[in-house]
Amino acid sequence: MLVLLGVMMGGCAIRGLPATGGVVCPECGVTICDDRQTLSIEYLGSGGYLLTRGDDVLLLGPFISNSGVLEAMNLKRIEPDVDALEAWLPDVSNAKAIIVGHAHCDHLMDVPWIAKNRAKDAKIYVNRTGSHVLAADGELHDRVHPIDAAYWPGTKLRAALWVEIPRTRVRILPIESEHAPHFAGLKFMKGRLTEDQKELPKRARRWVEGRTYAFLIDFQHPEDDDVMFSVHYQDAASNPTLGFPPARDRRLDAALVCVASHHEVKDYPDDLLAQTQPRHVVLGHWENFFAPYTRDLDELRGVPFSRPQDFIERVERYVFSSTEASWSMPAPGAVLELVACPNG
Ligand SMILES: [Zn+2]
Repeated sequence: MLVLLGVMMGGCAIRGLPATGGVVCPECGVTICDDRQTLSIEYLGSGGYLLTRGDDVLLLGPFISNSGVLEAMNLKRIEPDVDALEAWLPDVSNAKAIIVGHAHCDHLMDVPWIAKNRAKDAKIYVNRTGSHVLAADGELHDRVHPIDAAYWPGTKLRAALWVEIPRTRVRILPIESEHAPHFAGLKFMKGRLTEDQKELPKRARRWVEGRTYAFLIDFQHPEDDDVMFSVHYQDAASNPTLGFPPARDRRLDAALVCVASHHEVKDYPDDLLAQTQPRHVVLGHWENFFAPYTRDLDELRGVPFSRPQDFIERVERYVFSSTEASWSMPAPGAVLELVACPNG
């Protein structure tokens, strides 16, 4: 128990992980046109992101309220850290959707506060278990959209399965996936809910997973159905081919992959990257969220039990073997900008 506590508090004893801060735009110098569009991918921490293309603004699993070890071990109540949220959450007032891949507390717990206080215009897309949890908050009544898998890896994609995000040119495809064990083959906070809850959970173990989905997110052309940016998002590592998007004749622009617990599944993310050939690989959920939230590159540590260096080596092998691919491991607050010309 003491060893476990020590590891979780300190994170992996890895200093000098090659995390990046600030804004990076690898193609800004070469993709040039008058009507150039930009997709900004801001890492929020714990596998959460803010995606912005003009007025098309989405939050993915936003989580700022890093818990302490006692909370994570169910020895203390867990709740949103409003001070941290007020200090660190960027302006999300224009967000149209909050999309969550599974219902654990480090992806869903901050969503009610954010939806009611900062992203007041956003619909919430979450699995059925998560929607039963959020039913405890009457103020969110009309805003929660339960999602089911719309695509099963290896099958043929039917066009009608996409979920269109209202008032945007964005569509999402929820993909059947899974959640890797946390460590040593053990998975915590398993389970599903089938009934609306009366109150939001107060202990980490009560934020049960439900079904875990990956997402393909298309930012479409302003005037037609062409795809301008396609992003694959996972908030949990999975065995192949769970979580894989349908094969298409275009590369992914970005794969947002999950470092936490990657070694608990097979060949992650190697097979996913080989199939989708993303131009950019973004390593998320890599930092220790059992320590206070920080954006300080000197203070950030790897997520416990997850060997980020091994993951980086896997991603580097893909990047080396691919053409014009890059990877980054963003510090919370760091931004990757992608650019594209609508008319080629
Ligand atoms: Zn989880």
